[in-house]
Amino acid sequence: MKRLVIFSVFMVALAWTQKTNYKGYKLLRVTPQTKEQLAYLVNLSRSPDTKGWPSDLKTLDFWRDPTTLAQSVDIFTDNGALMEQELLSKGMQPSTLMDDVQSFLDRRQAENTNSIAAGSRFTETYHTYEEIIDYLNQLANSNPLVSVSRIGVTDESRDIVTARISSGGGDTKPAIYLECGMHAREWIAHSTCIWIIDELSTLYGQIPEITGLLDRFDWFITPVSNPDGYVHSWLNDRLWRKNRKINPSSPCIGVDTNRNFDANFGGVGSSDNPCSDTYGGPSAFSEAESQAMRDILLSLQGRAKAAVSIHNNAQVWISPYGYTTERPADYAEMVSSI
Ligand SMILES: [Zn+2]
Repeated sequence: MKRLVIFSVFMVALAWTQKTNYKGYKLLRVTPQTKEQLAYLVNLSRSPDTKGWPSDLKTLDFWRDPTTLAQSVDIFTDNGALMEQELLSKGMQPSTLMDDVQSFLDRRQAENTNSIAAGSRFTETYHTYEEIIDYLNQLANSNPLVSVSRIGVTDESRDIVTARISSGGGDTKPAIYLECGMHAREWIAHSTCIWIIDELSTLYGQIPEITGLLDRFDWFITPVSNPDGYVHSWLNDRLWRKNRKINPSSPCIGVDTNRNFDANFGGVGSSDNPCSDTYGGPSAFSEAESQAMRDILLSLQGRAKAAVSIHNNAQVWISPYGYTTERPADYAEMVSSI
């Protein structure tokens, strides 16, 4: 029995240290020049499961989606040669942005470790979930403009924490809500929220623009809105995107909380396959992370003037709703405030 326990502990330790390796995975860039090429890429990007993919491809992920003609598209895949051939057969000229994604990830991780060791500012490097929570608590203890609160708890019992930065004015003051890190692997998003929290809280009273932003609005900022996924992206799989929900009746883990809102739930761009990176979950708001965001926005009803979800890579501002190109009724007002 004792031997069995020791063996089990060994297996757990082995599983814990084994990271997903992306050696040989490639990132390709291609620019559609004809309507047919664009339609092919759009179709492929909206087939989140292996259905419709070139055969033998195990991973196909659009890091920059096809939108319009002459706009480049980035494709991450385990079989670059096959994908390249497929694109060439459609008359496109793919180029290789990353020949071996794993070596790129290793390089960036080493740069971050070295930068922290060299004493870089907290806001200039990437940090673990625990380090971010410590930073927020310390800021709240030392800066009267900042308070932190828990807006939800994940399946793995981690707090979803939101910082409020306020120069006073009571609970009816107009508010702005920012959320970062819904997709675990998009680390620059988490860092962007931390940067904004730091700038607002330390430069109030020194820079007129920032003073004005705080005097006009209370800021509610959730820098790690998917803590379980974020921790997993540090420890096990740098490119993990979803949360860590255990899906009953499937060996695959995780829900894309960005597909879990009650807005065209299960529609285009979302998958009902738990193994897909865009799996929307069993029902709208089934996930602790999307519930937390819903609840904080409901609590700010009548006060919230803007709610922005920050991701990375696409370099675009997207107005509601992501599933359609139809503009919402208040589109003009939104554009003017951007
Ligand atoms: Zn994202």
